[in-house]
Amino acid sequence: MSKNVPNAGLSAWTPSDPVLQVRDLHKSYHGQQVLQGVEFDINQGQVKAVLGPSGSGKSTMLRLMALLEPADSGDILLRGRRIGVREDKTPAVLLPERELARQRRDIGMVFQKFNLFPHLSACRNVMLGLTSVKGVHHKEAEELAMSMLERVGLSHRAGHYPSELSGGQQQRVAIARALVMNPSVLLFDEPTSALDPELVGEVLDVMEGLANDGMTMIVVTHEVRFARRVADEVTLFDSGVIVEQATPDEFFDNPQHARNRKFLSHVH
Ligand code: ADP
Ligand code: MG
Repeated sequence: MSKNVPNAGLSAWTPSDPVLQVRDLHKSYHGQQVLQGVEFDINQGQVKAVLGPSGSGKSTMLRLMALLEPADSGDILLRGRRIGVREDKTPAVLLPERELARQRRDIGMVFQKFNLFPHLSACRNVMLGLTSVKGVHHKEAEELAMSMLERVGLSHRAGHYPSELSGGQQQRVAIARALVMNPSVLLFDEPTSALDPELVGEVLDVMEGLANDGMTMIVVTHEVRFARRVADEVTLFDSGVIVEQATPDEFFDNPQHARNRKFLSHVH
């Protein structure tokens, strides 16, 4: 077998295989086990909603998937290839920062608190990853950024600074910033939790539009109605493990696990 073939020995990835896979992921902080063997797959074009109580490890799982911090053990595979670590080493050896930065471009993340740069306009916030990470020229980056702002309904706010935008608008800029990098998967960490109730809808509408356009999305959320309407699959996370994964109808109308029935009795 050729040494140059990545993951030689594993069967080749095909587009019908999961685009992102998480295998037996473990993570502790100061001796506290936060992820205890998470297994998770997402197919191309699929939308997964992740529900679960606060402190159950949902954000940690997303940060690990986005390569913002390393797992203690387990694998994250993008199109069948291990990411974040050297493919050929066991035990795992973390990739150098430059390689991590390159791989991170392929996994977009939208945070609860938007994380926009306050000193940059909406357009500049969206352009930044293109010019600084991808090396795209200013003019082209600006055109791409404008088309993404258009897509989230904000081309008329391109020159505004974050402080001049509502929370819902800031979050839509953050979505445009993630989208412009053309990621394979988009991760959302409670994207509407920091918003006033009247601004939640405009962000969920943009997300639903992306889902309808075929974007692959993992959405940690408390928005049960959104999960039911938009997700292909709903996952319950608790104490660092996945308790139940099912279609929305099964998940909400016929929960299999006592833990899920208890969770649903609180959210309904
Ligand atoms: P969730 O997103 O489900 O609310 P988190 O992944 O944020 O859960 O957190 C899970 C647990 O891990 C919590 O007990 C939290 O305090 C702890 N934790 C998360 N990140 C860190 C960190 N960087 N350092 C120490 N503890 C952390
Ligand atoms: Mg969280």
